[in-house]
Amino acid sequence: MFNIIIFGPPGAGKGTQAQKISESYDLMHLSTGALLRKEVANQTKIGIEVQAVMANGDLVSNNIVDEIIKNEINKNGQVAGFIFDGYPRTIQQAKQLDKLFTAENIPLVLNLEVSDEELINRLKLRSQESGRADDNDVTIANRLQVYTKQTQPLLNFYANKNRLISIDGQGSIEEIFKRLQKQIKNRQ
Ligand code: ADP
Repeated sequence: MFNIIIFGPPGAGKGTQAQKISESYDLMHLSTGALLRKEVANQTKIGIEVQAVMANGDLVSNNIVDEIIKNEINKNGQVAGFIFDGYPRTIQQAKQLDKLFTAENIPLVLNLEVSDEELINRLKLRSQESGRADDNDVTIANRLQVYTKQTQPLLNFYANKNRLISIDGQGSIEEIFKRLQKQIKNRQ
């Protein structure tokens, strides 16, 4: 099994690149944002519980996302590997995820680096097309703050474990994908 975490702030391009990696390496793409939005769309018990938090750009509770991820991994034990997108976002989630893997298949972390200025531009542009409840000016600012406070500390967590690879996340989609592929080839 070969597993990857695609990491970075909101607007870094995680979803786009995760999709491409998923197709090229036959990995199952698990996006907690997408999985949560599906719960909201279906108005499940979880969906009803998380919708206001998501619309604000705050983090859903660790236990909910940990449970969703654990279920998805258990349900799909036969796949070649997973690419995690939008998860983990807190130290608790990172520790929880590591418990599900052995040392040989512990996920590699590919971190997309993008300047704040570029992130804000991309998120504002996306807000005009996405129709997502959390893509508006106020919520965008909050999501970036939440990232800095709660998620960015994971960079040290993974760097200390020698699992962090940072990649320039600016440029064309294909350029960035090539950079990611180069790193994956070195480690696969
Ligand atoms: P973004 O494009 O901003 O990274 P996502 O689609 O990954 O957005 O996530 C959208 C929202 O879903 C987040 O703002 C948060 O409310 C919730 N969410 C997604 N993943 C997680 C997670 N791992 N932990 C807590 N909340 C999450």
